[in-house]
Amino acid sequence: MTYEDTLKKLERVKEILIRLTNRKEEIENFYQILKFPQRVIKVNIPLKRDKGEIEIFEGYRVQHNNFLGPYKGGIRFFPEVNEDEIKTLALIMTLKCSLVNLPLGGGKGGIKVDPKNLSENELKNLSQEYVKMIFDFIGPERDIPAPDVNTNSQIMDWMTEKYLEITQEKKEKLDKNYLRATFTGKSIQMGGSEGREEATGKGGAIVLNELVKKLNLDRKKLTIAIQGFGNVGYNLAKFLFEEGYKIIALSDSKSGIYSQEEFDPSLVMKCKKTKGMISGCYCIGNFCDSNLGKDITNEDLLKLDVDILIPAALENVITKNNAYQIKAKIILEMANNPITDEADEILNQRGIIVVPDILANAGGVIVSYFEMVQNIEKRRWNKEQIFKKLEEYLVKAFNEVWELSQKEKINLRLASLTNSLYKIFESYLRYY
Ligand code: NAD
Repeated sequence: MTYEDTLKKLERVKEILIRLTNRKEEIENFYQILKFPQRVIKVNIPLKRDKGEIEIFEGYRVQHNNFLGPYKGGIRFFPEVNEDEIKTLALIMTLKCSLVNLPLGGGKGGIKVDPKNLSENELKNLSQEYVKMIFDFIGPERDIPAPDVNTNSQIMDWMTEKYLEITQEKKEKLDKNYLRATFTGKSIQMGGSEGREEATGKGGAIVLNELVKKLNLDRKKLTIAIQGFGNVGYNLAKFLFEEGYKIIALSDSKSGIYSQEEFDPSLVMKCKKTKGMISGCYCIGNFCDSNLGKDITNEDLLKLDVDILIPAALENVITKNNAYQIKAKIILEMANNPITDEADEILNQRGIIVVPDILANAGGVIVSYFEMVQNIEKRRWNKEQIFKKLEEYLVKAFNEVWELSQKEKINLRLASLTNSLYKIFESYLRYY
C-alpha cells in the first residue's frame, strides 16, 4: 500500500464527512493539509563497523500531523525501508491515534538495514547515531518514537540513554523521568510500562471479542489462522488461545504450520526457540511431536478454510491475486496495511468483514500513551490496571465505529476512517 493508495482510501470517506458536517469547503481544505506530511526528515547515518570502516545507512522520521497532540509512532529496522513506506505508516498513525481518542498525532521512523547483519555493538551504535540526528525533532511534547518491526525494548533503552546524554551535554535542566517519556516501549528498568510488550496482541483480542459479541458468535467454535509469529502474532495467539478460540494455523517468515486440532501458541514458541523455526512445531495438547499437523506455506495459510484470518506480519500480503481465494469470513488486520486497496474492494464485495489496522492493532500505541503518562506523572500502574484501561479505550473506539457503520451502512474500514478524520477535523477547525 503506497502513500497515494492510502490517500485514495481517505477520498472514499470525504463525501460521508461532508454529509455529516455539512461543511464542504472546510473539509476540502482540511484534506489539502492531510495530503502532505508536516515534516519529512531524511538522515544518512554513519556507522563505524566492527572492522573499522564507515558505512552509511539511510534513515527517516516522518511527522505526519500533530493537530491532536505530539507525533507518535514506531521505528522499524528493515532492508526495504523507504520514504514512501514511512510516510504511509506515519499517516496511518495519525488516523489510529485519533480513532482511539488519544491526544496524539502521527509519526513513523525507520532505518534501511537488516539488523541480522549487525553485531550487538553495531546495532547499539546505529540506534544511538540515529537519535543524534533526529534529536532536535523529538521529545515528550514533540514526537515520541516506539518499537516496530525488528526493534524492541533494548533498542528503545539505547535510544533513551543517548537522548538523556545529549540533553545533559546541552546542560538542559529537565527531569529525567519526564525526558524518558521521549521513547515508549522501553524496558521496565528504564521506565517502560507493564504490559507494553503484549499490548498490541492484547488489544487485538479485545477488539475481536467485541466483534464476536456483536455478531452473536460462539468464540469456542471459531477457527483462526495467524500469519506472523513475532511480538504481535505470538502474543495475540496466546491471548486468543486462553480465551477459547481455536488456533489452527500459524507462520513465521520461513513457513507455516497447520492442524485440524488447535495449537498451543506458548508451546509452539518454546519449540520454535529450540529448533530455530516454526516448521514441525505441531504442539497440540501437551506435546509437540504430534503427527496431526503439517507444514504449509505463508500463501497457503492465507487461503485456509478458517473463520478468522489474522495477518500479523507485513504489509500487502492480501492482493488482487489472492483476494478471491480467501475463505475466512472475518479478517483482523494486526499488521499495518496488510490488504492492498484493490484486494480490499474485492473482499468488501464478497461480504468479508475486515477489522482495519487502525482499530485492530491500536493496543500498542494506547499502552505507549499510558507509558508516557506514567513517566510524566511519576506513576506506576500494574499489568491488570493497564489492561483494564486498554480495554476501556478499545471498547469505546470499537463501539463508536460499530454504531457509525450500522447507521451509515458502511463497512468497518470506512466507519473507522470517518470517525478518525472527524475528530482530527474538529481539532483542525480550532487551528484554522
Ligand atoms: P516482529 O518483527 O516481532 O514479527 C514479525 C513476524 O513476521 C515474525 O514472526 C516474522 O517471522 C514474520 N514475517 C516476516 N516476514 C514475513 C513474511 N514475508 N511472511 C510471513 N511472515 C513474515 O514484528 P511485530 O512487532 O510483531 O509487527 C508485526 C506487524 O504488526 C507489522 O506490520 C507492524 O507494523 C505491526 N504492528 C506492530 C505493533 C507493535 O506493537 N509491535 C503495533 C502495531 C502494528
